[in-house]
Amino acid sequence: MFLSCFFRLRLCLVVCPFLVVGLCLTPVYGQQKPITVENIILITIDGLRWQEVFRGLDARLIADAQYNPLGEKLAQNFAADTQHSSAEKLMPFLHEVVKEQGVLLGNRDAGSCAQVTNSWYFSYPGYNEILTGVADPAIDSNASIANPNVTVLEWLQHQDEFANRVAVFGSWDVFPFILNTERSGLPVNVSPMEHPETAYEEILTNLQSDVPALWPTVRLDAFTHHYALSYLQNHKPRVLYVAYGETDDFAHDGRYDQYIMAANRTDRFIRQLWDFVQMDPTYRDKTALFITVDHGRGEEPLETWKHHASKKSLAGYMQSLAQYEEGIVGSEAVWMAAMGPGIAAQGMVSPIACAGSNQIAATLLGLLGIDYRTFNPAAGAPLEQVMQLP
Ligand SMILES: [Zn+2]
Repeated sequence: MFLSCFFRLRLCLVVCPFLVVGLCLTPVYGQQKPITVENIILITIDGLRWQEVFRGLDARLIADAQYNPLGEKLAQNFAADTQHSSAEKLMPFLHEVVKEQGVLLGNRDAGSCAQVTNSWYFSYPGYNEILTGVADPAIDSNASIANPNVTVLEWLQHQDEFANRVAVFGSWDVFPFILNTERSGLPVNVSPMEHPETAYEEILTNLQSDVPALWPTVRLDAFTHHYALSYLQNHKPRVLYVAYGETDDFAHDGRYDQYIMAANRTDRFIRQLWDFVQMDPTYRDKTALFITVDHGRGEEPLETWKHHASKKSLAGYMQSLAQYEEGIVGSEAVWMAAMGPGIAAQGMVSPIACAGSNQIAATLLGLLGIDYRTFNPAAGAPLEQVMQLP
């Protein structure tokens, strides 16, 4: 763009100086239309700390046999000379592809801040905030209660252009309630498919019934992921939300080794989704990817890496953590990553004001070319850092 203007400018100056503005500026501005995307892939990775995402392995935790029964093997795979190199080994897609082609937010060591704006720092309030753009203080537990609030996915599902083109795959069995499937009509898969549509989905369904479950309410992410990938390939939704969950449960179990391997696996899963997107003409160069988490975790004292809770939540849903009088400090800290058309390649960005999870819904709508105020004027404003300026 610059070069063509430069040559035209030389030509203009020779031919007629008075035409410079008309010949050079008009076409250039004409090319600078805001770019919007047609499709969105939203990913959440439950409770994966910014510390691992940007610093890689925590040396104190891998040295502790209680948290890392796997011992040396974990370090062999993911330790490195610098924290940044360790983070690159842990989440190569995020650091090699998303960081190069898009934006990252939330590396507090680099002065980049992102946080939830709800006052609880656990999952349902976090997902409600991400998906509705508003922190609702009344969402104060993880109980399976139908969400009174309308999510951006439900709103899109009721727009003609997006009707039956929105789908959700999650590992946690509370997602049908968070997305209020009874009211929204959204397809939200969190369990073995009742009606597998392909031989591949049939295998996944049989396997999910046959493989032991580690947790009563969260399935293994491999099922969530491969169902989602299959649906993406066969149904071509315009908006796909994939909610991975293992990271949080392994952390609560105190298994740092498994938490780390789950983070690495999820990075690989996201790469698979993106590789398909960029191979498929329906999606290629028309699709934005947005990745975030529902809450952070503690850092000090060491064992608080397993937990997350605000001080306020200790009196209610999180009273099992009451010994931490200030709550789990730092668990409000989150991170975000995005790339695709309409998202400038900036790498790590440091917003002047801390980015809020309540801004994600408006950002996704903004990328789709929709003014978020038509969805909900009370939602947080779009993240300007993520959007390419017109
Ligand atoms: Zn969570």
